[in-house]
Amino acid sequence: MTKQKGNLFILSAPSGAGKSSLYKALLEADSNVRISVSHTTRAPRSGEEHGREYFFVDVDSFLDMIADNAFFEHAQVFDNYYGTSKQAIFDMLDQGLDVILEIDWQGARQVRELYPEAIGVFILPPSLSALEERLTGRGTDSEEVIARRMSKAVSEMSHYEEYEYVIINDDFEHALTQLKAVFAANRTRTSLIQEIHSELINDLLS
Ligand code: GDP
Ligand code: ADP
Ligand code: 5GP
Repeated sequence: MTKQKGNLFILSAPSGAGKSSLYKALLEADSNVRISVSHTTRAPRSGEEHGREYFFVDVDSFLDMIADNAFFEHAQVFDNYYGTSKQAIFDMLDQGLDVILEIDWQGARQVRELYPEAIGVFILPPSLSALEERLTGRGTDSEEVIARRMSKAVSEMSHYEEYEYVIINDDFEHALTQLKAVFAANRTRTSLIQEIHSELINDLLS
């Protein structure tokens, strides 16, 4: 396996903490970053497009993909399956792009086993009440779904220590600045510079 020239980031948070808003703003600001589009069996929310937020597939197709070993990782979250396909991610990393996986902590564990260089970033809300307000304000989920997501939030957040970075999304612009800094700093990691600038390093040291 050749070393990848881009960094793989795992972005996790309880639903409603703001991870989609943050990564979308990062993608607009940083042309070196891409999001991995997951497959899911959940129904599209209004405004969501097949191939943009997710590839929306039925359960049988999802199970076929598991059998074909097409997933880098997959998990059941709430009542639905979610998974990240292998090929797309490694094509982007090979090109030197940084790739974000927006996945839950179960998926993050699987990714770290396969790819220990992955860099984890956990997004926390400033309070539980703010989290509930955001889920309600987003206007995409029923009261029942919101109640279930809130009851799962604490167990989801209890995994924050498994991540290299934690960003509290209180003031959005401040959180975005921190996220940009994490990406920028990781591009200067020694192992990555050795891979990308091997010729320069050879020249300098010869
Ligand atoms: P093969 O390449 O089809 O024999 O199977 P692999 O399991 O080696 O790779 C599957 C896909 O994952 C390919 O698209 C590889 O390019 C990609 N891949 C590249 N590096 C890694 C890695 O470190 N871990 C994993 N799991 N997959 C990788
Ligand atoms: P997630 O992807 O983690 O489920 P979203 O990005 O959909 O979360 O954010 C949930 C809601 O909270 C959205 O309506 C979003 O506009 C809002 N939101 C995100 N970040 C902030 C913030 N820092 N302050 C206030 N509202 C926010
Ligand atoms: P939502 O339905 O709000 O888009 O996502 C629900 C949960 O599924 C979130 O916690 C999100 O991180 C997780 N998720 C989304 N895509 C994937 C994926 O490909 N793999 C895993 N393991 N979790 C995912």
